[in-house]
Amino acid sequence: MSFSIPVVRAPVVGAEEGFPVRRVYCVGANYRQHALEMGLDPAREPPFFFMKPYDAVMPNGAVIPYPPMTSDYHFELELVAAIGAAGTDVPVERAGELIYGYGVGLDMTRRDLQAEARQKRTPWDLSKGFDHSAPLGPITPMPGVLMDKGAIELTVNGEVRQSSDLSQLIWSVAEIISILSRYGALAPGDLIYTGTPAGVGAVVKGDRLHGRIDGLEDLSISIG
Ligand code: MN
Repeated sequence: MSFSIPVVRAPVVGAEEGFPVRRVYCVGANYRQHALEMGLDPAREPPFFFMKPYDAVMPNGAVIPYPPMTSDYHFELELVAAIGAAGTDVPVERAGELIYGYGVGLDMTRRDLQAEARQKRTPWDLSKGFDHSAPLGPITPMPGVLMDKGAIELTVNGEVRQSSDLSQLIWSVAEIISILSRYGALAPGDLIYTGTPAGVGAVVKGDRLHGRIDGLEDLSISIG
């Protein structure tokens, strides 16, 4: 065989070499108001996880093609934690040791396929993990820092659609790392999309999305 699989590197603020992406984990329903809008119980039940392929990560400024097999393509603005050290069964009080930095991400979702999967109790893979489904702004190195507050806001064509604060996360970054690391080893190159606030909605071709989180580089993409 003579093909090669590309290394996906997420740009890092102030560094020439990007962050090589290994796995992309996502947390579901991690803000109370979003859980409610999805018809879920926002009680503090254990968090659930799903994954996206690593090559779904798209850089700031990308034009994201409107995906096939959907007519309800949704944005979900999320804080993304970048993992820089390995860990298994990590206690909450040591979770910060795994942090490399953070970026502003979008968990793009084929909501109609997800709704069908939820109803039929079939896997979410094709509703969540598809081409171009994980835009990610530049990663700001913040080793050891557990982000737990700060505004998170998404505008579509200049209009505010999602606006909340990281302090509203049901499960904190430290708790997410600790719980996820019980299921398998976290390793350098892993990304964790930590969940979206309320206000998710559909986009159409030509829409411009702009996400920001206090202290991080903005993420701008458009739908092409
Ligand atoms: Mn999400």
